[in-house]
Amino acid sequence: MYHLSTDKLIEAKAMLHSHSTASDGRLQPIKVIEYYRSNGFKIVSLTDHGKITKLDQPQNCIFIPGVEVSAGRSKLGEPYHIVALMIEDESILEAKDNPQELIDRISSSGGLSFIAHPHWSNLVYEDLAELKGYIGIEIYNTGCEVEVSKGFSTTYWDNILSNNPRILGLAVDDAHRYTTPPIDSLGGWVTLLIDEESCDSAIDALKHGRFYSSMGPEIKLLEASDNSIDIVSSPVEKVSIISVNGKGFSLAIPDLRLLIRLWKDKEGRRSIENIVSSIDVDVGREGEVIMVESRYGKIRFIIASGGITSFSWRGRLGSKYIRIEVMDYNGRRAWSNPIPTY
Ligand SMILES: [Zn+2]
Ligand SMILES: [Zn+2]
Repeated sequence: MYHLSTDKLIEAKAMLHSHSTASDGRLQPIKVIEYYRSNGFKIVSLTDHGKITKLDQPQNCIFIPGVEVSAGRSKLGEPYHIVALMIEDESILEAKDNPQELIDRISSSGGLSFIAHPHWSNLVYEDLAELKGYIGIEIYNTGCEVEVSKGFSTTYWDNILSNNPRILGLAVDDAHRYTTPPIDSLGGWVTLLIDEESCDSAIDALKHGRFYSSMGPEIKLLEASDNSIDIVSSPVEKVSIISVNGKGFSLAIPDLRLLIRLWKDKEGRRSIENIVSSIDVDVGREGEVIMVESRYGKIRFIIASGGITSFSWRGRLGSKYIRIEVMDYNGRRAWSNPIPTY
């Protein structure tokens, strides 16, 4: 059973990819930390280009030393951008012509790595599949989105997951301008669940996927197995269960309302009987409770404060992993990590 919950653990918003004046960012290193700290972040990594920016541990914030390395060449001839965290020795940069060697050196020196903005970099599936040892890929990058509308890389993620369902998905800002238009900050982050406020605890949570990525929505509880999912979140409009090929499903409030309306009338009911076999609506203490028996399984929603705040599913997808995505009314998403189901 996969279990992610804020019980007993500290929720820590983390920015894992950012730039300062030490490379091409607009804020000085300490200002980057202060900026994120004053916006509710507990963890910040500076990942300047080709350079490890060093800082004393600031107060009330965990600083993770890091670097973004332009490494090797992809199939289409562009360099990979690889983010390394918990790295203090610049000698790893000697391996920048060979991405696999770079990743291996990062891992053997106790750090971790992930592949930055696959969409923006024009990587292809093979570029990601042939490397081993990185923890994940960026699935959302605020800078790439505001700059050139290439922020989302979830398609890459689904492709790589169908082969390796343990690759994690990370949302980051990759901010350079911060408060100057187009604003490239506070658009995507990861929320880590840590047992104490330390670098080691943050790195452990990252390595073990004890986090979710978000552009806004909060996931407060997530439990899942191959035949059940329970999520508690801030109010969202849409919940999606995503898996290999066409397996999985999405349901959004407007469709849910339409289904309820059709179910109430005899003709309407006939038009949806191939998807739905029963719908019950009740008002409970927590909000409106909607139970749907469908060809995807039994689904229970609670709608409160204008959005879905609880979602439970019992059924069977019969695939090797699932991942969960929610979206709020402003189109902002949050993503669980993949949950292997075999
Ligand atoms: Zn980059
Ligand atoms: Zn960057």
